[in-house]
This record gives sequence, C-alpha cells and structure tokens, in this order.
Amino acid sequence: MEGMRGEPTLKPPFPAVHGYKGQPSNVNNVETFANVPIIITKGADWFASIGSEKSKGTKVFALAGQINNVGLIEVPMGTTLRDIIYEIGGGIKGGRKFKAVQTGGPSGGCLTEKHLDTPIDYESLAAAGSMMGSGGMVVMDDTSCMVAIAKFYLEFTCEESCGKCSPCRIGNKRMLEILTKITEGRGTMDDLQELRNLAAVIKDTALCGLGQTSPNPVLSTLDNFWDEYVEHVVDKKCRAGVCKKLMRYEIDKEKCIGCGACKKNCPAEAISKTDYIAPGHKLPSMMIDPSKCIKCGACISTCKFGAISVK
Ligand code: SF4
Ligand code: SF4
Ligand code: SF4
Repeated sequence: MEGMRGEPTLKPPFPAVHGYKGQPSNVNNVETFANVPIIITKGADWFASIGSEKSKGTKVFALAGQINNVGLIEVPMGTTLRDIIYEIGGGIKGGRKFKAVQTGGPSGGCLTEKHLDTPIDYESLAAAGSMMGSGGMVVMDDTSCMVAIAKFYLEFTCEESCGKCSPCRIGNKRMLEILTKITEGRGTMDDLQELRNLAAVIKDTALCGLGQTSPNPVLSTLDNFWDEYVEHVVDKKCRAGVCKKLMRYEIDKEKCIGCGACKKNCPAEAISKTDYIAPGHKLPSMMIDPSKCIKCGACISTCKFGAISVK
C-alpha cells in the first residue's frame, strides 16, 4: 500500500505503544495520585461524601499573595473563599482591604469581594469566570493595580506560548501591546473593546488549553474592575500607584521651603522655582513640570521636608 506521493504508509501490525520502561503507564497529576490510596482504603462512597454536589473530595491550594498565612492548604471542595482567606489565611496582611483573589494559576480569573461567599469547586469557579487550574490562589489587597495584574499574567502566557497557532501566538501579543499602552497612559476606550474582541477570538480558536484560557485574567478584570480600566484610559490615573508612567510627582507649595535640593538632584531639569513664598518661609517654593518629569523618584528621596508626593 502506498501513500498519495508514492511513499510507503504504515502497515499492520502497527508498532506497539510502550509506557515508561516498557510498562503500562499512567501520566497524571501527583495530587490525583495522592487521592487514590485513600479512596481504595476508605471507599468511593466515603470520598464522595466530601465536597460539593459535582466536585468531590478535597482540593489543595497554594495560598499566596498579600495574606498573613501563606502555604499549601487542603480543604473540602465547596469551602468558601472567605473561609480560605480569613480563617485559614488569617486575613489580609497589615489589616489592609481585600481587593481580589486570582485562582487557577496564570490563566485563571480575578475574583472580587462579591465572590467571597461562593463555595469553591470546579463549576462555581468556571461560572465566576475563573478556574481551578493548577490550584494557585493569589490574594491581592488594595495596593494592587488590576490592569497591571492582567498584564503580568498575559506576559507569562506570551512567554509560555509554543507559537504553533496564531490566535495564541499573535493574538496574545496584540493584547499585551494594548495593556502596555493602557498602563503607560496611551490607551483609548476603543482599546478596551478591542481587548474583549481579541479575547473572544483567542478563547474560541486557540489550539490548546493554554491559549483558550489565556484571556481569563484580562476578561475577569475587565468585568470586575472596569472602573480601574476607565481611570487608566480616561483620567490617566492608576489608583494603586503601580503604573509608573501614570504617576504624578507633585510639590506641596505650602510645605516647600525652597531649599533647592530637589532641583539640584533632578536629572530631567523638571523642577523650577515658582513666584510663591509660603507663609513662614523665606524662599519661593518649587514646582514640577510633568511633561519633563521622568518619574525617577530622586526628588522625593531628596526632600527632607516631606513636600513631595506621588499622586
Ligand atoms: S494555544 Fe497552545 S498550541 Fe496554540 S500557540 Fe498557544 S500554546 Fe501553542
Ligand atoms: S527639596 Fe523639598 S523643600 Fe527643598 S525645594 Fe525641593 S520640595 Fe522644596
Ligand atoms: S521624579 Fe525625577 S524627574 Fe521627576 S521631578 Fe522628581 S527628580 Fe525630577
């Protein structure tokens, strides 16, 4: 038997498929294997009595981020995020405000306060726009910028993409370019729509799970933190103060004594004297020209009078 171009095709008997060292093999996740002995010992009914209706047993999570107790935890499926974060995790570090929790690793979604009482299992995470994935659980407080977070996870996916299919190879790069624009203050409202369009195409057409799930962090942050995206695009502001190019260094003219130390240290010659002398001071206070400022932060560490801040 010959193929269309005359080359020989495989003939039966086909070569036998061998596993590891020629033995029957089962490639699986360690966590899955770890469940097997206890199911054999205690029985399937016992195992199925733990967990939620469709997701049985327990789940291991890698609890990380801005939380008091980090580490690996094992909880029954159906445990709420609130119990995991506040009971097991000991709450948010430094008593700060909870902002989001990203579940499922780099392709998971970012969930918010409204999801805290959701029982966590495969189905509920998918319904909330995230996934169980690798069992990662990264907790974020109010110092996190959700646009920067989405960008961070997409950078990871772009690096991991094998490049075989264009939706993932090219589509994710286009999304990353748009997120970069937004975090640098060059984004437009059309860009936000374009992110959704690209995400929909990538999810539908990428060849494997990596590409199909890669837009999750972007989509979930667009859904749950829309105001933050609009602030970056319209107000050119990052409320968490994470996006460096959107930071604005300002001098409080009432606190500035006009010593000139900041002006001397500014590498961009962005600081100049004003005509204003604050009550109780002898020299005119300084001001920063935002169009020249390169946001190096040198002035803030130079000023001994706490007159400079980042907005
Ligand atoms: S979706 Fe999968 S196959 Fe396609 S480029 Fe990404 S990693 Fe490769
Ligand atoms: S170092 Fe501080 S006090 Fe001195 S001129 Fe600059 S802003 Fe004003
Ligand atoms: S942040 Fe840097 S560039 Fe901007 S005003 Fe201060 S010293 Fe100058």
